[in-house]
Amino acid sequence: MDARGRASAPVRAGAYGARPRPTQRQFWFRRVMVLGVPLTLVAVIAGCLGRSGPAPVPLNLAWTLSPASNSVTVQVTSPSGTSGRQVLAHSQVAVSENDGHWSAAGGTVRVPVPAGARTTLVVRLTGPQQLKRTITVSAPQPPRIVKSGASSGRWLIYTFSPLRSGPAQVLCGTDKVSFAAPTQVVVSESATACHASLQLTAQDGEHAAVPVTIPALAKPKSLAKPKNPAKPATQLYCFAHSAGRAIYITIDDGWTPSQQVLTLMHHNYLPITAFLIADAAKENLSYWKKFVAAGGIIGDHTVSHPNLTKVSLSQATTQWKQDRTDLGHWLGQTPAIGRPPYGAFNSTTEVAAARAGLTALAGWSATMSGNRIQTWNGKPLSPGEIVILHWVPGLGQQLTVLLNEIRALHLNPTPLTVASFSGIAPQQRSLGGD
Ligand SMILES: [Zn+2]
Repeated sequence: MDARGRASAPVRAGAYGARPRPTQRQFWFRRVMVLGVPLTLVAVIAGCLGRSGPAPVPLNLAWTLSPASNSVTVQVTSPSGTSGRQVLAHSQVAVSENDGHWSAAGGTVRVPVPAGARTTLVVRLTGPQQLKRTITVSAPQPPRIVKSGASSGRWLIYTFSPLRSGPAQVLCGTDKVSFAAPTQVVVSESATACHASLQLTAQDGEHAAVPVTIPALAKPKSLAKPKNPAKPATQLYCFAHSAGRAIYITIDDGWTPSQQVLTLMHHNYLPITAFLIADAAKENLSYWKKFVAAGGIIGDHTVSHPNLTKVSLSQATTQWKQDRTDLGHWLGQTPAIGRPPYGAFNSTTEVAAARAGLTALAGWSATMSGNRIQTWNGKPLSPGEIVILHWVPGLGQQLTVLLNEIRALHLNPTPLTVASFSGIAPQQRSLGGD
């Protein structure tokens, strides 16, 4: 110590200038203060940190709604690997709502929520780290029935929103349930009236057991018989069944396919019938395949769109038959229903349709003029009406206008099938149109 002190003395003399030279004791005291105080502070801070544990881990809050079970799974996770898992293993997550409280260890908890309502949930994580969040959950409406009625020996049930076609159900012991269209359930073979519980699952997963009363169903009536059985004819109908506030959308010709129509078909299940001219359809076969895949129905509108009242029976038969055959071959769906070009028909047209294998001819009762709907009687659209549109530029807009009107009138777009004409009076005169 002495040797070191002496050795340093001459060097330090200059540094202190004219001030009195510190004694050896003062020198060491200053040195201890200069080095020691900061070291002590570092030690104190380190001590504090040591007592509060490791640095906090980031936490994430996620939740998922299961419409099938009307429950929300709330989960707190951490992206910080092992340290995050350790924090969550020592945590408790609690969810509270006005009159309920649910909690679980480990960061995940499942909470029931009411269907068709918005629920505000307060989520709290307690444990090594705290977290508090408020989430709002909207559970969709359960499926509900808007209308039901008897048609052709079947009981038709229409739902407000599209359904998933569920497993086969048998009601009342013998009544078979089938899903004919996303918003249409068909119950057949009801020998006696009964009450039952119909299981419905909406496309969003919401489930409901809906009480239904099914009457005894009469056997279906067959289509109107031709006047002269020796000369079979296929009759034309301008209206179809009105059960379930049904409305039938048909679009003719096929020269201008519309992507917008496909989009509308995908978004709101739309059972559209396209009466196609073979000459037009063959220009865009890939489009018509997509139309069929989207649930579209194909109708016969002849090969080249002549006025069938001005051609021979054999020419008319070929026009119907070749179109049916070609469309069936190209699109995998052979039309059962035809529509004569211009709505023009006579008994020759009807006999030709029968020879070509068509079961019914469809006219229309409402058309669209620009974006305006024109019905046969000038009144608003009513159940059972058949609306005609054409595959022309602007069709998407027309269809949007029509669908808004259909929705406002609580009508249900329904597939146009041969059964749709059962018990309906056939049309006697040509319609005029295209
Ligand atoms: Zn046409």
